[in-house]
Amino acid sequence: AKADVSRAVCFYEPGMDEAARDRRALANDLRQAIERGELALHYQVQTSVPTGEIRGYEALLRWKHPERGMIPPAEFIPVAEENGSILAIGEWVLRTACRQAAAWDNTHKIAVNLSPVQFAHVDLARLVHEVLLETGLAPKRLELELTESTIIADKARTLHALRRIKALGVTVAIDDFGTGYSSLDTLRSFPFDKIKLDRSFMADVERSPQAKAIIRAVLTLGRSLEIPVLAEGVETQMQLSILQVEGCNEAQGYLLGRPRPIDEIDLAEAADDGA
Ligand code: C2E
Ligand code: CA
Ligand code: CA
Ligand code: CA
Repeated sequence: AKADVSRAVCFYEPGMDEAARDRRALANDLRQAIERGELALHYQVQTSVPTGEIRGYEALLRWKHPERGMIPPAEFIPVAEENGSILAIGEWVLRTACRQAAAWDNTHKIAVNLSPVQFAHVDLARLVHEVLLETGLAPKRLELELTESTIIADKARTLHALRRIKALGVTVAIDDFGTGYSSLDTLRSFPFDKIKLDRSFMADVERSPQAKAIIRAVLTLGRSLEIPVLAEGVETQMQLSILQVEGCNEAQGYLLGRPRPIDEIDLAEAADDGA
C-alpha cells in the first residue's frame, strides 16, 4: 500500500486522486480509532529454543475498521506515522500492553514495538516510567522493540533516550535484524539486550545455504557480544531443528503460536510454565 501511494504521488498515475482520498479517509478514521475502541492488541508467544519454555509475548496492534474490517498494521502504521496519530496510538499500545501483562500475574516478558516517530516527538523515557508506575508492571518484564531506522533517524537523541529507558530496568531489542543498511554499526553503538533476526532468513533457510550461513554468523556474533538471538518467522519443525542445532536462544513464529487476542491465551498455562 505504501509503495502504491508513493508511485501514485510521483508519477501521477490514473487513480492518484482516489488513492490520496483513500489515504486521507483512513488517516481521519485512525484519529478516532482509539476513542471508538477499534484498536486491540494480539499477543504472540516467544519461546526458549533449548527448553521450549515460554519467555514472553510480543504485543501486535490490530485495527478493526467499522466498514473495512481488519486492517493490517503494515497498512495503517505508515499512515499513523505520517499524520502523527502514532503518538497517541503508541502510548495506548504501551499502556494497554503493560496493564494487561501486569494483570497476568506471571513472570513473562511483554515486548512492545516502538515507532521512530515516537522517539522523535515524545519523551519516551518519561512516558515509560509513568506507565510502569501507573500499571505496577515490573520494569524487567517490559522489552521495547525498535528497528534500525529508529536509531538512524536521530542517533544521539535515540541513544540518550534508550540509555534512560534502560536505566529504568527495561530491556531493548533490535527488531528485523539483518535487513537495515548498517546493522553491525547499530549493534556497536548500542548495547541491545536481544537481537531479533528478521524472518526473511528463516523463510529461506531450508533451501538457501546462504541464509543458513547468515543465521549461523548472526548466532556467532550474538554469542561473542553476549546478546541472545531470537529467530522470527519460525513456521516449520525443520526450521526449529536447525535453530536447535545452531544454538539459537529464542524463537517466535506460527509454529510456536500465532498472534492471538488476550482472552485466547491460556494464561493458566503461561503462569505455571513461568521462568
Ligand atoms: P514485526 O514487529 O516484525 O512483527 C512480526 C510480524 O510478523 C507480525 O505481523 C506477525 O504477525 C508476523 N509473524 C509472526 N510469526 C510469523 C510467521 O511465522 N510467519 C510469517 N509470515 N509472519 C509471522 P503484523 O502483526 O502484521 O505486524 C507487522 C508489523 O507492524 C510489525 O512487524 C511491526 O513492525 C508493526 N507493528 C505491529 N504492532 C505495532 C505497534 O504496536 N507499534 C508499532 N510502531 N508497530 C507495530
Ligand atoms: Ca517487532
Ligand atoms: Ca520483526
Ligand atoms: Ca504448564
